[in-house]
Amino acid sequence: MRSDYCGDLGVDDVGRKVTLCGWVARRREHGASLAFVDLRDRSGFVQCVVDGAADLRSEYVVRVTGTVRLRPEGTENPALPTGAVEVGQCTVEVLSAAEPPPFPLSEHVDVDENQRLRYRYLDLRRERLQRNLRLRAAVNSAVRTAMERQGFLELETPLLIASTPEGARDFVVPSRLKPGSFYALPQSPQLFKQLSMVGGLDRYYQIARCLRDEDLRADRQFEFSQLDVEASFVDAVDIRRFVTEAVLAAAETVTGERPSFLPDLTWHEAMERFGSDKPDVRFGMELVELTPLFASTTFNAFRAPCVKAIREPQGAVQRSRKQLDDLVEQAKRWGAKGLVWMRVESDGTVASPVAKFLDESELRGIVEATGAEAGDLVLVVADERPLVRHVLGLLRLNLGRPPVNEGGLHFLWVVDFPLFEGIDPETGGPVPAHHPFTMPHPDDLAGLGGPGEPVPPADVLLGARSQAYDLVLNGWELGSGSVRIHRREVQSRIFELLGIGAEEAQRKFGFLLDAFRYGAPPHAGFAFGIDRLVALLAGEENIREVIAFPKTQSGQDPLTNAPGEIDERQLRELGLRVLPRT
Ligand code: ASP
Repeated sequence: MRSDYCGDLGVDDVGRKVTLCGWVARRREHGASLAFVDLRDRSGFVQCVVDGAADLRSEYVVRVTGTVRLRPEGTENPALPTGAVEVGQCTVEVLSAAEPPPFPLSEHVDVDENQRLRYRYLDLRRERLQRNLRLRAAVNSAVRTAMERQGFLELETPLLIASTPEGARDFVVPSRLKPGSFYALPQSPQLFKQLSMVGGLDRYYQIARCLRDEDLRADRQFEFSQLDVEASFVDAVDIRRFVTEAVLAAAETVTGERPSFLPDLTWHEAMERFGSDKPDVRFGMELVELTPLFASTTFNAFRAPCVKAIREPQGAVQRSRKQLDDLVEQAKRWGAKGLVWMRVESDGTVASPVAKFLDESELRGIVEATGAEAGDLVLVVADERPLVRHVLGLLRLNLGRPPVNEGGLHFLWVVDFPLFEGIDPETGGPVPAHHPFTMPHPDDLAGLGGPGEPVPPADVLLGARSQAYDLVLNGWELGSGSVRIHRREVQSRIFELLGIGAEEAQRKFGFLLDAFRYGAPPHAGFAFGIDRLVALLAGEENIREVIAFPKTQSGQDPLTNAPGEIDERQLRELGLRVLPRT
């Protein structure tokens, strides 16, 4: 139907007769008898000069035939890639008329998100989504190519499955043929990729859809896509190399260059320096250790297991007393008992509500340790170590984090995660930091004991590291993975420590445990979120901007009205009854 895309035309095409198809983006009258029509298709816009009598309104779908010519001198539009030319002497065929769109499709108009999602097919015509979705397709393609280059085989895994233990709530699907029974939708292909290793496939990858029923946020949707990877006879370093290659290929496709990875951080170091296991290293303001300085202080509030500070350069100059008070309140909402602020004055002295309780050497010690200079703000938290790191980590982001599209791409690996993230106060047992198939760190394995042995004390459990690692980009967790347990006695011990009895283990993951009886290769894997990677590469704060048909924050689809009710007959077939809402 057409000879060219609108956005491809330029001075080289002058004199050519072209046929274009697209939407009327804008129409301006030019004198009594002519009109300028900006024609839009996937590639961009071009100006067409048409007969002013033609009935061409916004978003009409048309086919235009005309001749490319230079725009008259002085009327070029350098902001538009095709702005040097126009298509003249046009004949126009209307392929489809259109009602006025419910909101302007111009890039420059802010539209309520609910409206955008209700009319997503119109929103998709806008430049931002066109650009983001093209970028997404390029990323997917680069990732696939990189994995295939590295010998990985694409495998599709089922959507209707038994539950996968990723720690979120399952979406479930009732079975018609077996009323009262349910499939779960995969939170990830975890169990299948491990089975495919037992099946000798050696290197698996898939851009997999995963579904998790958890609260939605800017970086989280019910359904998302991840590059899912598993390989046999490899260690954690090999897996990180494979994945590094894939994300660098993706970044290069978008930016034209391969960013370099920063050195790996251990989980412990990330927590101590940034107060986060997904550190945003685009800016400084690292957490500074002050605990030894206050080992024998007379100031009670600082006689705590951990005292740390962050320094905001010139923060004291910028922030009013009211803002400082707000920071204190904020820190309390995050769980701190208090937050001490200190201002370094131009004469080097320290002003702070608590200055009078600290002696000279303590005040000097804080200034030296933080490197604070005149005008800087120092914020101190004293408490249990995890809480101090948590609160200062959040404050650091709150005060210093640059916008998403600034500061370049800072990829890094966080390694040596703890095996357990805490002790469950109800059961007294440890809570896994990852799924239960994660291999403990070789140096910490012996300390966990073997099947049937007594449970080690809490400090041994909480000190145990795993062979799990996360990929972080600009403070976003892109994904995680681990070396897996392939030995039955280690898996039994981990289940035992997690309070998963033999019977429960058999019921939930019996098929995997059975498979491991028939020769399981050592294997390891990883998964990272495509939506998050694409959002960061596109400079978007919210992954909804890189998903063609996302859900709202409350999990609704205003376009199709999902989730919706189903009729009585369907319910009967499924053996279901809906209870009245209480
Ligand atoms: N299954 C994990 C996830 O989806 C990733 C992995 O361990 O490979 O987060």
